[in-house]
Amino acid sequence: MAEEKKKTRILAVDDMKVNLDLISQVLGQMEDSIVVTASDGKTAIRKAKANQFDLILLDVMMPEMDGFAVCKTLKNDTMTREVPVIFLTALSDPQNIQKAFHAGAVDYISKPFSREELLSRVSLHVRLKQNMDELIKAKKEAEAAADAKAIFLANMSHEIRTPMNGIIGTVDILKRTPLNEEQYEYISIIESSGESLLTIINDILDYSKIEAGRVDLEHIRFSISNELTNIMRMLQVVAGKKGLKLEMNLPKDIPDKVIGDPVRLKQIIINLVNNAIKFTEEGKITLSLQLKEQNKLKDALFLFRVTDTGIGIPEEGQKRLFQSFSQVDKSTTRKYGGTGLGLAICKNLSEMMGGEIGVESEPGRGSTFWFTANFDLSDEANVSAHSDDIKAKMHCDVVMSVLLVEDNVINQKVATAFLNFLGQKVEIAHNGLEAVEMVKKKHYDIILMDVQMPVMDGLEATETIRRWEEREGNNQDKLIIVAMTANSLPGDRENYLEAGMNDYVSKPFKEEELISVFKKYKKEH
Ligand code: ADP
Repeated sequence: MAEEKKKTRILAVDDMKVNLDLISQVLGQMEDSIVVTASDGKTAIRKAKANQFDLILLDVMMPEMDGFAVCKTLKNDTMTREVPVIFLTALSDPQNIQKAFHAGAVDYISKPFSREELLSRVSLHVRLKQNMDELIKAKKEAEAAADAKAIFLANMSHEIRTPMNGIIGTVDILKRTPLNEEQYEYISIIESSGESLLTIINDILDYSKIEAGRVDLEHIRFSISNELTNIMRMLQVVAGKKGLKLEMNLPKDIPDKVIGDPVRLKQIIINLVNNAIKFTEEGKITLSLQLKEQNKLKDALFLFRVTDTGIGIPEEGQKRLFQSFSQVDKSTTRKYGGTGLGLAICKNLSEMMGGEIGVESEPGRGSTFWFTANFDLSDEANVSAHSDDIKAKMHCDVVMSVLLVEDNVINQKVATAFLNFLGQKVEIAHNGLEAVEMVKKKHYDIILMDVQMPVMDGLEATETIRRWEEREGNNQDKLIIVAMTANSLPGDRENYLEAGMNDYVSKPFKEEELISVFKKYKKEH
């Protein structure tokens, strides 16, 4: 069935009946149009609010309320604001015309008007209004589709991450068991493939989280030079495999101890240096740092540059680089792989840090990717560089009785094996309710609590345990409950603490993080 064509609705306002009759007659010639009339300002406003008009023709000189006042009222009301108004006016001197536009009109027609002019102008504005309506509708639809896409991507990548973590965790455990050389090699292939897959998934998840405004930057004290040195040490291995030199230029005389998000800063630099390594066959890659601006002792803008001697990027390609999902050309995807999200994430993160990002490049000679970031300057005396506190490998000399609350069987196995390796004694509860029952019967030094679980989730279980402790009068010797989370969003941490949890660790476990949690709570015991 053909869709019924929408009629064009026009409101004509004039205190002279002859004018209204003439307008109705002329505009009646327009295809599919309906002309509604009003002979004073108040009636016009009431009718405009009650109906959706495509256009209003408004006389200026009317008793009680003149056309300017009517127009202002219409433009101040959200219901009528978008309807275009054309003035019909005998006062066509520049001052009055300016006044008409100032009041919000889109056009004016001088009185006495010719039939042709009235018809042409009205038809033009109706068409413009219809085009505008279609554009607004299309924009809204595109925005809704983009939102849906971001949410879908975030959900999907989260779903994929969980089993991926299971695979990588199991491989990690398997590597620690006795293996012959061939088996070890195969396991290493699974491990590195799993890790590249996880990087892609994390990129997608990260990108959709940033897009949806669901990322908060940390404010931690750290030393820029320490972070950069650590990154370079790690990437040296990757560059070395391709026979590339990796250099770093760090000026001595610039502030080093700052407050900001070292993890996100590292993420940008690792991305840029990894790209430089990926797209360079011979030569070297240089990371350099410069102070751009300093605002007394308060904050400073730093410029980071990553220069390579690689394939370079043609000028047409440079513009697209920082858009999501874009690569210089299709052959790049085939040859080098990648998602085309890395630089879009870097752009978002540098902007979140009050900076910008850009590239200078010459095909065949190399590229320089640069970005700026603003950091608060910290009190030098008070610095404890966070990442230096945790030594790369720590020895776990703390033994605790652990209650692991986790519903996913694979996660249970991986976590138990991991905790056993660290020399811990582990018991398992399959959901929050089971954990509550077990805690009532036996003392555990620490409870590692998954958050999302069937039957009773981690937050409810924690609240139930805390209430039970209160009833029992155990307020002095409360259990240590630590949330395990695969992917926390801003605000989650507050929810965990509010529910009565002491801390949280990431899932899958990171050795250092878990050991430092064990040490922290052993002391307080
Ligand atoms: P990808 O995951 O595809 O590498 P990025 O957003 O990090 O996504 O990069 C997008 C594209 O920019 C790459 O596919 C490549 O075409 C180009 N590119 C990035 N860095 C460099 C570089 N250092 N030299 C040449 N081309 C680069």
